[in-house]
Amino acid sequence: MKSLRIAQVIVDNKCKETDRIYSYLVPDDLEIDVGHRVIVPFGISNKKVEGYVVGIKDSIDFDMSKLKSIISLTSNEKFLSTRMIELIAWIREKYLCYYIEAIHSVLPANIRIKNTYVYELSNYNNSMELLKEGCPEVLLEIVEFIEDNGGSALKEELRDNFNDNQLDNALRKLVKLNILKKKQFIKKQESIKYEKFVYPSNIESIQISSAAKKQSVLMDVVLNNPGISLSMLKKEYDISQDTINSLLKKGYIRVEEREAYRLKQEEVSPESKKILTDEQQRAIREINSHFSAGKYVLLHGVTGSGKTEIYLQLIEEELRKGKEGIVLVPEISLTPQMIRRFISRFGNTVAVLHSGLSNGEKYDEWRRIAEGKAKVAIGARSAIFAPFKNLGIIIIDEEHESTYKSETRPKYDTREVAMKRCEIEGSNLLLGSATPSIESYYKAVNHLDNMRLVSINNRVNNRSLPDIEIVDMREELKAGNKSIFSNRLFQEINNALLNNDQLILFLNRRGYSTFVSCRSCGYVAKCPNCNISLTYHAKGNFLSCHYCGYSRVNPTECPSCKSKYIKYFGIGTQRVEQEFIKTFRRSDILRMDADTTTKKNSYKIILEKFRNKEANVLIGTQMIGKGHDFPDVTLVGIITSDTYLNLPDFRSAERTFQMVTQSSGRAGRGDKAGKVIVQTYSPDHYSLLHAKKHDYVGFYEDEIKLRKEMNYPPFSHLCHVIISGYKEDKVIKAAKDIGCLIKDLTCDRNDIEIWGPSPAPLSKINNRHRWQLVLKADEEGKLLEIMKNFYNLNLLNFNEIGISMDINPLNML
Ligand code: ADP
Ligand code: ZN
Ligand code: ZN
Repeated sequence: MKSLRIAQVIVDNKCKETDRIYSYLVPDDLEIDVGHRVIVPFGISNKKVEGYVVGIKDSIDFDMSKLKSIISLTSNEKFLSTRMIELIAWIREKYLCYYIEAIHSVLPANIRIKNTYVYELSNYNNSMELLKEGCPEVLLEIVEFIEDNGGSALKEELRDNFNDNQLDNALRKLVKLNILKKKQFIKKQESIKYEKFVYPSNIESIQISSAAKKQSVLMDVVLNNPGISLSMLKKEYDISQDTINSLLKKGYIRVEEREAYRLKQEEVSPESKKILTDEQQRAIREINSHFSAGKYVLLHGVTGSGKTEIYLQLIEEELRKGKEGIVLVPEISLTPQMIRRFISRFGNTVAVLHSGLSNGEKYDEWRRIAEGKAKVAIGARSAIFAPFKNLGIIIIDEEHESTYKSETRPKYDTREVAMKRCEIEGSNLLLGSATPSIESYYKAVNHLDNMRLVSINNRVNNRSLPDIEIVDMREELKAGNKSIFSNRLFQEINNALLNNDQLILFLNRRGYSTFVSCRSCGYVAKCPNCNISLTYHAKGNFLSCHYCGYSRVNPTECPSCKSKYIKYFGIGTQRVEQEFIKTFRRSDILRMDADTTTKKNSYKIILEKFRNKEANVLIGTQMIGKGHDFPDVTLVGIITSDTYLNLPDFRSAERTFQMVTQSSGRAGRGDKAGKVIVQTYSPDHYSLLHAKKHDYVGFYEDEIKLRKEMNYPPFSHLCHVIISGYKEDKVIKAAKDIGCLIKDLTCDRNDIEIWGPSPAPLSKINNRHRWQLVLKADEEGKLLEIMKNFYNLNLLNFNEIGISMDINPLNML
């Protein structure tokens, strides 16, 4: 007799009540193991749902007779390793999400099954009579459709062919009349693609008459390229299926069907590694010695200091040891150029994961990794979950980028997940940036979380950093220049155009430039309690602080200089483009912003056009400020640096410093020197002064002092709660109730501060009104505890209200 096996299963059902591990009996005839996907009966109705096996036990401490059995195995593949399961449990605890949400974020989307219904014809002849008697036409049409479809049809197929609002009623009626039977149907979504390959066979006996020209061509091709794909034969050599069939019949060729991968890798000429500069060698030595001591490393290296070359060589080292590596880059810098750099070094062992891939391609790349065919994964955020079994290193480039924080549940921070994964798998971790996040740098210099710092202060071959010039826009206004281009920027643009050089104009507007400032003196309305810009609310014409809820009426004149030029900000990229055309009489302009990049790959196309010099001018929002290498760009103009500076966010100085430094990194990457012009109403701001000197450390020192003074992260932790809904009064009431509840939960402790409830800075999105609460504590654990207790309360019925929560949010809008 086989020993008793009880599977621990997480079911694919996204709700609080089912967010636990269920036990199911493993039937004797099923080989089931940890990591498998299974179908189980679920709930009172025993609906079939998908589940993931996360453990196997041989006994349980409750009544065995109540146990249901697993119905079937969905696939022989093991989707989750025990290490991944450990990571999933950690994500659930850390980001307060459900098991299944953590699983979904770890696995590629299309491996999940789809639960649907199939409608089968039954009792057909008897019922036709019934149907003919005055039933709506559509019933008959549906029955005929299903009949033509071979007697059954999926709900989706019917949806594609019938009007939605009629369909449901009609189907219900047909089921009631017993003409159709409705059954649950489980549809697999993942599909392995198979392709046919052609080989020669019985070579000794081949005899083809010279008259059969096509056949001889085919035979030649196959003899010269054994294993050529069938589709290639047809496409490239124009060979018909008939010709193939005739040789098959003669037995001169055979066809083999095999798994194929959808993503065809580009042909890239191999590139050997560069000889490292002294600084790079020193950096690698330091990194390796930290690694051997079991530490993680933050690599701070100015733009163009050769960090990418260091990444490549560190990975090469891991591959030599038989291990694997993950490189994360922000989606936007995952350009063909960047990918080519990796492929040229590591060939077809590179798997690429980004949002431009189809689900099928993503799944194939995922499988190549899982099967050990790929050794290096390069990708955006979710590549952190690449299913390597022998992971040697994780590298996170541009670690300060906000795209590393997931915006949907689970709202994980990729850097934290990476640390956990490295801890579980014993791998090395390298974070890299020219402008590290304040939090990471703080950890590295203070040796927190096992982090150490390695710095490179010079560009490769001592290429100079671009000259950054700050232009005071208040002076421009005084001198009568109301254009968006200052005199200096105007001159430099003219120079660049005359020399046929390329230039980039940045506009760091993010759709919600809602702060109020004075164009004469640069005054910005700030909260007296929080030192954060106040947010302008058009409705009601007032200003409010979204941290503490402070509010005041909108001033009509500047409180500081009495000027009437006080208004809320807003210049769009389109306006810059128009003014550019008017001022410089040129129209060879590429514009990149949310409007021109709605399609998946459009930003890559725009960047490629710019690289190919199809236009000399690129205008865009902050999305073009990252990681690109355009050798012919000599000028970067930042139209206004203040939009960042005045975001209602304690990170606004940090963002400004990063933005100016990163965008200046785009200038002068080739042989020509680069110049950066920064236009601002606050020319004395420390973030700009330090950026001008290329002085990250100086900036960090000023900023960390302020953070400490104001008790902002890294000295505290925040939890941002958003309460949203379509009905404003309900949202406000819920926000107040939730505020009271949370205050009750924290009543007897003074180590947790609560701000709000107050309207969120983005007070309405997609017709949903948004209010917010902010919790602040010195330890993250305290926040987690409060929020867990809150979720367990279930006291009130918050009908039609959405509550979302973000621990240590990167923005609070
Ligand atoms: P970062 O990632 O720090 O911005 P990169 O790795 O892109 O820097 O290097 C900047 C430029 O210097 C690239 O064009 C790169 O090819 C070149 N480079 C890097 N390392 C070396 C080296 N050791 N020798 C010669 N050129 C190098
Ligand atoms: Zn003023
Ligand atoms: Zn405030």
